[in-house]
Amino acid sequence: MGKWRCAACGCLFVPRRNVPQQRYCAKRACQRTRRRRWQRQRLQTDADYRANQAANLVTDTGHAPR
Ligand SMILES: [Zn+2]
Repeated sequence: MGKWRCAACGCLFVPRRNVPQQRYCAKRACQRTRRRRWQRQRLQTDADYRANQAANLVTDTGHAPR
């Protein structure tokens, strides 16, 4: 199995077998970068997701449902 270059920090890592398209290493900072990029892309491409995020924000900052 080959190694991948992390898209965040550029180090070489071995991707997990169950995540063949993993592009980031396991470092916490890189995982955070991955999530942030994914989230940003999702926000740009998925209007439903954006609406859900807005609804969650309202719930988080507003009063609890119960
Ligand atoms: Zn990395």
